[in-house]
Amino acid sequence: MSSQLCEWFALCTRPADGVVSHPVLGWVPTCQRCADKLGLQLARSYDGILAPWVLIEEDTDPWVEVNGEPVDWTSSTFPRVPCPCGENGEVVEPGVLDGMNSPHGVQRCDACSTYDGDLDAALALARRVGGVARFYQSAEEAVR
Ligand SMILES: [Zn+2]
Ligand SMILES: [Zn+2]
Repeated sequence: MSSQLCEWFALCTRPADGVVSHPVLGWVPTCQRCADKLGLQLARSYDGILAPWVLIEEDTDPWVEVNGEPVDWTSSTFPRVPCPCGENGEVVEPGVLDGMNSPHGVQRCDACSTYDGDLDAALALARRVGGVARFYQSAEEAVR
């Protein structure tokens, strides 16, 4: 595990517990204490087993890590097959679109509708390549 430090305050030396959406900087690694102090919404990185109440943070795609490193789908050497829908080219896992919005992003193929959502799709892809699906959990749902 990498120990990403909190970057919300330059003087904070605590490990980041998640990320906070910043209007200019984008996703900023932030510790729970800084988030609490300012009433910020902390979106936590989560890689556990999907529970019914788990929701992905809005406007983020899940990703897959192999040996602790996010897989860059634009340069990965995993074998590809045509997506069963015939609309979305070649994919590593049928029904899962990889390299969406970023080289790491994973989404379900809406044309195939094999998976309930992006998280399900990322889990299937992770199983295929022997990795772990990770995503930013919705801050609201995280407190349940
Ligand atoms: Zn902090
Ligand atoms: Zn498809």
